[in-house]
Amino acid sequence: MKDSELWEAMTRRDSLFDGQFVFAVRTTGIYCRPSCPSKRPKRENVEFFANTTEATAAGYRACLRCKPDAPKLVPPNRAEKLALKRERFKAALRAGGNVTDAVYDAGFGSPSRVYESAQEWLGMTPGQYQRGGEGLRIRYAVAKCIAGRLLLAATDKGVCAAALGDDRDRLISGLRDEYPRATIEAGDASLKAWAEEAARTLGNCRLPLDVTGTPFQLAVWRELRGIPRGERRTYSQIAVRLGQPAAVRAVANACAKNPVALLIPCHRVVRQDGSLAGYRWGAARKRILLDADALSI
Ligand SMILES: [Zn+2]
Repeated sequence: MKDSELWEAMTRRDSLFDGQFVFAVRTTGIYCRPSCPSKRPKRENVEFFANTTEATAAGYRACLRCKPDAPKLVPPNRAEKLALKRERFKAALRAGGNVTDAVYDAGFGSPSRVYESAQEWLGMTPGQYQRGGEGLRIRYAVAKCIAGRLLLAATDKGVCAAALGDDRDRLISGLRDEYPRATIEAGDASLKAWAEEAARTLGNCRLPLDVTGTPFQLAVWRELRGIPRGERRTYSQIAVRLGQPAAVRAVANACAKNPVALLIPCHRVVRQDGSLAGYRWGAARKRILLDADALSI
């Protein structure tokens, strides 16, 4: 693209160009997304870069307002619509019938594009999903922790689920419900060691994750992983960090859908008034975990 087109896009504050390029302002030393709401600089002070790495290399730093270095998000309306289509697609797959019909029923235009991307956001092909994780091999281990028992489940790529509960058998049957056709078996000593480490450190350890979600959910979960032990954030702080201050409810929903307890520490997110709000694995456990976090710093 020509500089004149880039200038034109940033003058319009066109969010469709976010992630395509950044513009930097010589007088302030700051670089921005095309959609940044800040006042537009004079043309002669503007320099364009293909990405944040190049802008940083040239000595510019990221704007605190538009956060061009934060993960790029699809604008909320589009993201929500897409999430809805994906949910419909999954429901249609679960209902049976053929995959192409499910694509159209969900409101997607082109089966081929859905096939291309589905592997990424379903974590498997649509066919595998329809069969409930058939072909997927999941191993699990259970360890005792301060908040009861922790079930850790992993594919060959990393931890795909972590759940808290009181009863080992119920945790395992919950996993089977989630992946009805996957091959689910007890893990070996090394998986047991992972579970024990996650339980002992309350998730403050580096284990590989294999989670799938909408782009928005993944962005929220990334933010959660950045909350240090002993600290808390509010749902609205996370929304602001993602550059979508109005998406507070969507952030809360993404926290509620977190498939991996502790390792993605959604328990560190509370309401603005300091009340704990819900927790997928029980509000009492959230309290225990927050107290433990506070004690161990
Ligand atoms: Zn900016």
